[in-house]
Amino acid sequence: MSLATPTNADLHCHSSFSDGVLSPAELALRAHRQGVQLWSLTDHDELAGLTQAARAAAELDLQFVPGVEISVSFARKTVHIVGLNIDPTHVVLVEALDQLRGWRETRAQEMGQRLAGLGFEGCYEGALRYADNPNLLSRTHFARFMVDQGWFGSMQDVFDRYLGDGKPGNVPGKWATLEDSVRWIRAAGGTAVIAHPGRYKFTEQQFDALYSTFRDAGGTAIEVVTGSHRPDQYAEYAGIARYYGFQASRGSDFHSPDESDIDLGALPGLPAGLTPVWANWV
Ligand code: AMP
Ligand code: MN
Ligand code: MN
Ligand code: MN
Repeated sequence: MSLATPTNADLHCHSSFSDGVLSPAELALRAHRQGVQLWSLTDHDELAGLTQAARAAAELDLQFVPGVEISVSFARKTVHIVGLNIDPTHVVLVEALDQLRGWRETRAQEMGQRLAGLGFEGCYEGALRYADNPNLLSRTHFARFMVDQGWFGSMQDVFDRYLGDGKPGNVPGKWATLEDSVRWIRAAGGTAVIAHPGRYKFTEQQFDALYSTFRDAGGTAIEVVTGSHRPDQYAEYAGIARYYGFQASRGSDFHSPDESDIDLGALPGLPAGLTPVWANWV
């Protein structure tokens, strides 16, 4: 079976195994209700939710591919590489992500210290209380805690002032290299996808280096229609996909019913003339 472009594919979202708030089973149900026909769960640097997601999707007759969103450092900034249709038990991928989560833990403790130095006490312990999975603490958990303390009006406010890239409470990532992330995904039989390219603050030369290095490493797709792109960026990244010969992906990046503007399955379809990343999946 080959799936054509109009398929309602949602190939990017987060469960409470990373920084989403719904369980994998709750997400599967929501995706199904929202009309999603092909779904992936892509938790940050974590595979532990995929068994539950696959089981819940099967019960709903919802087609599912295992996924992950890997944190990468490139040109002194953080880039996210999604792996789709991976084997979540593959030893190369499993061990690499174990190491990334180890670094995440060190960084979370450092962020707690930094924030304490800025007058916000107890953020590490607070963030931990907001994390269902203590192995995966993200800035999102810190931000939720800091808003609920009454210190900030919104998560956006926390990121804008303290936790965003370059802000005083953030500890810059020492994440995977771009080449390694693609290598791990390919070792696990998956397809590597550049997540939400429109979010990166790169120069034109840096963008070209990102796409070229990714392609040379064996990466084959980019997200074109994502909850992180403005509608005018769909055409822009459709152009990039055509220029570099990438397949196109689509995903809401849904995290929470209260926090996410774009629901599962709610985005428009891919622009015409692109090859969907799922074109050859059966
Ligand atoms: P981390 O992987 O710990 O660096 O956290 C990154 C996560 O923070 C992203 O996956 C988003 O879910 C969230 N995030 C990043 N920037 C913002 C923002 N401006 N507002 C809300 N959430 C954000
Ligand atoms: Mn996130
Ligand atoms: Mn991301
Ligand atoms: Mn994401």
